[in-house]
Amino acid sequence: MKKFCENCGAELKENSEVCLECGKYVSKKGNNGNGEENNKLALSGFIVSIASLIINFAGIVGLVGAILSGIGLAQVSKGNGKGKGLAIAGLIVGIFSIIYGIYSIINLADTLSELALFF
Ligand SMILES: [Zn+2]
Repeated sequence: MKKFCENCGAELKENSEVCLECGKYVSKKGNNGNGEENNKLALSGFIVSIASLIINFAGIVGLVGAILSGIGLAQVSKGNGKGKGLAIAGLIVGIFSIIYGIYSIINLADTLSELALFF
């Protein structure tokens, strides 16, 4: 089955990922209307943010996820790949993780100061 570039309409060689005519990235999946893949930063930001719910590490993991998602969101907005929903979700979950991390630290500090008073 022949494939054609969604951007300029030039015929594509089999298994080529980039259009030789206009240089636009073309998905191997071809003619299903999804010419672009998920933005890698948006995707990894989302994964890190989800991971931060399990390994919070004082909100640092969430911070990394939020930053990756934020950069990913900016790239997606410029048309660099798909994944706006992923990026926004990663950003929200990441920020939630940061807040939870800070809350945990405050809680721990409270507990420690109560212990200090006790002794
Ligand atoms: Zn093209």
